[in-house]
Amino acid sequence: MSDIARFPLYDLHSHTRASDGLLTPEALAQRAVSMRIGVLAITDHDSVAGVEPAQRAVAEQGLPLKMLAGVEASTLWENHEIHIVGLNLDIHHAALTAFLAQQHQSRQARAEQIAERLEKARIPGTLAGATRLADGGVITRGHFARFLMEQGKANTVAQVFKNYLARGKTGYVPPKWCTIKQAIDAIHHSGGCAVLAHPGRYGLSSKWLKRLIAHFREAGGDAIEVAQCQQAPNERTQLAQYARDDDLAASQGSDFHQPCPWIELGRKLWLPAGVEPVWKRFPTLAPACSEAER
Ligand code: AMP
Ligand code: MN
Ligand code: MN
Ligand code: MN
Repeated sequence: MSDIARFPLYDLHSHTRASDGLLTPEALAQRAVSMRIGVLAITDHDSVAGVEPAQRAVAEQGLPLKMLAGVEASTLWENHEIHIVGLNLDIHHAALTAFLAQQHQSRQARAEQIAERLEKARIPGTLAGATRLADGGVITRGHFARFLMEQGKANTVAQVFKNYLARGKTGYVPPKWCTIKQAIDAIHHSGGCAVLAHPGRYGLSSKWLKRLIAHFREAGGDAIEVAQCQQAPNERTQLAQYARDDDLAASQGSDFHQPCPWIELGRKLWLPAGVEPVWKRFPTLAPACSEAER
């Protein structure tokens, strides 16, 4: 058995055109193979629509890749937008379908309000523009950002966010996302594991981050994302420590959205020693793991 089969590289956080990723699910699966990923989770914002097309591509083309069904749910905690990744879900479970329908309503309502605000700032047509770019997928601020770039309002996504879409800016609307507990419950009901996504990206002090992790755990959360490809040097060690302290499993994911020089599927994804990899909890993946790895 090759090392890749025995020690598959896991990337458990990625996006497709079902939300704000630029690649189709099929193209993402092919890219994962070319990056030598063994197990890929597609985790679109409040959508599971990318999962089956990718699974079909893997089956039809005989790709050496295992797909995990996933989602990234937007939640609100203490006025912070916190993302909860669900892994290994039954994407057809009624509890998940109902949860996602509610999230879509919140997204649509927020999109309309964002557009109204931008219209008042003399930038018309943003709802139609963002909806066109979403192309039937879930509408996100990323689509507003791309439309504003098309309109020549900024040259980079980061700049559009900074000038228009970030908290406190013209196009910012406080979202009405669900609670962390509601997201975890929907993930659990549909058979998945709940992972606190990119804990280092919420701008929290260590005191507040510990509070968030404690809340997540009390709400039933299973794991925290310890490894990402863009991370401050000490962050991974610190997050691994928090995972061990709070008895949470650890996950890793690139949060890939589109081909770019600094974020790539599988890049720099490894877990520090002493944490429990979240994938040990997915029995369907067991045949891919060797005894040595266990
Ligand atoms: P939403 O869930 O609709 O609020 O959109 C959030 C998404 O917007 C994130 O997942 C990122 O992909 C993107 N995003 C948020 N903030 C930034 C930023 N400062 N620069 C670039 N992309 C961002
Ligand atoms: Mn995104
Ligand atoms: Mn996120
Ligand atoms: Mn993400």
